[in-house]
Amino acid sequence: MAMQSGTCRLCLTTTQLCGSHVIPELCYEGTYDSKHRAKLMHASPNAERWVQKGLRENLLCSTCETRLSRTENWFKTFWWGPDGLPTNIQSDLPVLSIPDMRQFHLFQLAILWRASVATGKEWNTVSLGPYEEKIRQILLDPSQWSTGMYPVFVQALVDENGDVVYGALGKPQQSQYGQSHVYYTLYAGAEFTVFVTESPDAELRKLLDEVYMSGDRIRLLRKDFRKSGTVLTWSRQRREA
Ligand SMILES: [Zn+2]
Repeated sequence: MAMQSGTCRLCLTTTQLCGSHVIPELCYEGTYDSKHRAKLMHASPNAERWVQKGLRENLLCSTCETRLSRTENWFKTFWWGPDGLPTNIQSDLPVLSIPDMRQFHLFQLAILWRASVATGKEWNTVSLGPYEEKIRQILLDPSQWSTGMYPVFVQALVDENGDVVYGALGKPQQSQYGQSHVYYTLYAGAEFTVFVTESPDAELRKLLDEVYMSGDRIRLLRKDFRKSGTVLTWSRQRREA
């Protein structure tokens, strides 16, 4: 995508803008999943076109692109590494030790925020309202994030054998939990649910207690990918060889 001048949505400087991925490329890497491909295609035959059109927008200057790529690199190393997403999940739900909770939350927030500021109709399901500015501030200065803000649930997508299904991508979908807006998006073998709130109310805290364990640990949930209404798929020619 050619550079073009405009206002960087993150630092607000007018400069040359890069083509930014709304959902970073690392989210479609992992394993090329030929095993589940046919089922995913059947679930949503138009998905590939959606993905190709919706991948990039001119949103950020190169400084901000680099800023966010630090978090992306952190997530990539963790998520696809030995302590990240397991390849198979049975009924005992695994507990993930997150080496850096701030980076973990920033990564999900960056995706949601980019989807909110992106103008393509592929992202028209995301509108963060006043939280768009609050999250922009956090992405610029990550020290503004503290424990409890914008909680995230992670549901690994699994098939009937408990094998994790890679290669599904979903348009973010909005829902509501109590007073909070909730967005759930499929990428990197899981459905990530972000609660758009800085201070969870009592009802949400009860739910969070099921998932957020002591220390920097979260319980990984599982979801049958065939039951996910938002399953889309992607393919990368280079992996088909
Ligand atoms: Zn910038």
